[in-house]
Parts: sequence; structure tokens; C-alpha cells
Amino acid sequence: MSSSISPRRRAFERDLSAPEPIPEEGIARAEELMRKGLLFRYGEDRSGELEVAKLEAEFAAYLGVRYAVAVNSCGCSLFIALKSAGVRPGDHVLMNAFTLAPVPGAVEHAGAKPVLVEVDSSYLIDLRDLERKAASGARVLMLSHMRGHIADMDALSETCRRLGVTLIEDCAHTLGARWNGRFTGTFGKIGCFSFQAFKHLNSGEGGIIATDDEDIAARAILFSGSYMLYAQHGARPPLEVFERHKYSTPNFSMRMSNLAAAVARPQLKQLPERGRLWNERYAILEELLGAIDGIEVPARDPREEFVASSIQFSLPGLDAGEIEEFLSRCDARGVHIKWFGRSEPKGFTSRYTDWGYISEEQALPKTLGVLRGLCDMRIPLSLTDEECRLIASIIGECVADARAATSPAGAAE
Ligand SMILES: *Cc1c(COP(=O)(O)O)cnc(C)c1O
Repeated sequence: MSSSISPRRRAFERDLSAPEPIPEEGIARAEELMRKGLLFRYGEDRSGELEVAKLEAEFAAYLGVRYAVAVNSCGCSLFIALKSAGVRPGDHVLMNAFTLAPVPGAVEHAGAKPVLVEVDSSYLIDLRDLERKAASGARVLMLSHMRGHIADMDALSETCRRLGVTLIEDCAHTLGARWNGRFTGTFGKIGCFSFQAFKHLNSGEGGIIATDDEDIAARAILFSGSYMLYAQHGARPPLEVFERHKYSTPNFSMRMSNLAAAVARPQLKQLPERGRLWNERYAILEELLGAIDGIEVPARDPREEFVASSIQFSLPGLDAGEIEEFLSRCDARGVHIKWFGRSEPKGFTSRYTDWGYISEEQALPKTLGVLRGLCDMRIPLSLTDEECRLIASIIGECVADARAATSPAGAAE
């Protein structure tokens, strides 16, 4: 079946995957640091140019936590969070099965064993399955607010408390988002955030660990590779806390660089405005896509104060062939949609069945059913309302076309 487009059918002309540009203030500061060569986060006897320390202090103040530790990626922040929370090789770690590859990767990096928990049709962790899986003896849950979808954090926190499970939150897509008035990343013992180019704050690569626990913070700083210069950190526990850990904590050299912090800092101030813009675009797309026959956009709890830098929807009535046809038609018209049901991992969309290093096979029929029809599209901040409407109409036409093309009558054309 060819995907020829008739001339009256408009295409979306811009790149949906284009990252957000760096504010001029960040560019100027990065340039200044480059001219001085001050790209390392610490100085031996220097003060005043400690860009990463400033970012940590500003981030902790923004989130309302005592300690923040900046590292080179969110994946590394997840790994350090596990180590700092006391996870040992061979331990079991619970995680929702709908997540991104760096999450099971961090568990594997720590030598631990992922125990996958089912998700429901709203893409959220299934708390009953969490209770069942906690019987594995796992003492830690690494919860991804995957693609910005936030579970009922009151119920989840209560379940974790009752089960004696320590919560670590992966907030790669929820920087700036809240549940019932409270920032994600502050419900658990540790919150981990991403500054990777396609997240809410773009420093190319980068991550940050947030916690109120002084021992976890000190260990995270030492793990990140502080060369005993930990006194220079911007949001750290008192120095005596480091005395308890400095001889027993290895240096993993996962520091954030001054350059990444310089471009990230001015973006922190922009988060409220970015959130507002993303959610306006999301509201348009959600309404228009939700009205299309064949597409389901799950309803969201009013307590979920998300920051929608992307949109997810399901195609429950379409089989794999129809979805392939739908995606290639969208692609031909400039709308690139990711699909978690693909049999081969591609780009950012792997499934738990693709993580072959997880030694024990785990069956999650409910999650597989959800992933089978799950589509994902980025929402660039620069998208106009009119472009949102164009994209929605392209998606609607492509669903209808894909169904017609793959129906027996269409195939006989
Ligand atoms: C992007 C992402 C990560 C990892 O971020 P990096 O900074 O690229 O390591 C982890 N979890 C989720 C859910 C993500 O989307």
C-alpha cells in the first residue's frame, strides 16, 4: 500500500523532535566559563565560579528540599540513588514496567534484580500488583512517573509505608509537576531528575538527586566523585556527616560539569512558564485527539498537576498492521509518533521484553496489552495552537486512512 498524499492534504513542516534552545543568559555564562577554562565543577582554592554548586542550591530551593546533588545524567542519578539508599548486589528492586531503558539499566548497574510491576490502562503503576510483587522481598521501589503520568501518590506512599518499601522517584518527565499540591520527587526518600535535551530542562546531558536525608546526600556526593572537595557543594549536609561515610564510599566519577550547570541555571527560572505553555498545547491536543474515533486519551485525575511535554494515546481497536500503516502515514505527513508496541526497540521506546539481561523472565500480560497500542508524541514548546490543530487533523485522517487501507475492501483496491 503506497502512502501517497494528495496535494490538498497538508503536512506538518517543522521538526517535532527539535530540542528547546538555551537562553542567552546561559550561552553567555557558558562562553565566559569556556574562555577561562573553568569547566570542572570544583576548584582547588577557587570560589565564586562554582556553577554546579549554585545550580544545586537553586534547585534545592526550587523543590523545597534540603539537599541536591548534580550528576551527569538522570540514569546515573538513579544508580547513585540506589547505592545511597543501601541497595546491595543481588537485592530485588521494584519498578513499574512502563518506563525507559535507563531505569532497569540503573538497577542492573547496581547489581540488583528488577522486579517488574504491572501498569494499568491509564499508564500508571498497579498498586495491587505492587503489593503482590513486594512479596519478592524487595525493599525499594524505583517509581517512574513515566512520560509525566503521576499515580495517586497519597495511596502509593501509604502502600510503601505499609510494606516497608523505600520509595525512589524517577522524575525525568515531571520536573515542575505536582501531585495534590506537592512536587514530585518529594514523596519518596530520593527524587531523581533529568536535564537531558528532551526533558523539561536542557543541558544536553545531566541529572540531579534531591533528598532531605543527610546520610543519603553525603553518600550521593561522595559516590558522584567529589575528590574530597565536598565542602564546595551548594546544597550539602554538615561536614561531620561526611566523616561517617568518606572512607567507605567509592568515587564513581559521575559529576555534572560546570558547562552543563551554566546552561541549565537560567532555565530553572523558566519552568513555571514552560509548564503553562506545554499544558495549553496539551489541552488542545487532548481534546482533539480524544474526539477521534479509534483513539483513546486516558482521563487524568484532577490532583495530577502534570507538565505535559509530550502526549500519549492508545489505539485500542487497531491491530499491529493497522498501527504500522497509521504511523507510516503520519510520518509521511511530518508527524513523527513513537510506538511502544513495536516488536523491535526503536529510539526511546523499548519494552521490558527487550531488556534481555533481566535474568528471570517476568510475565506482565496487562502491561503488554497497554503497550501494544501505546503511542507517544513530543510537544515542542514552540508549537502554535494552529499547528496543534493541524497535527490533530493529520492524526485523525491517518487513523481513518490506515483502517480503510488495511480492511479487506481497502486492500483489494
Ligand atoms: C529520560 C529518562 C531517564 C534517564 O534520563 P537520562 O538523563 O537520559 O539518563 C530515566 N527515566 C525516564 C522515565 C526517562 O524518561
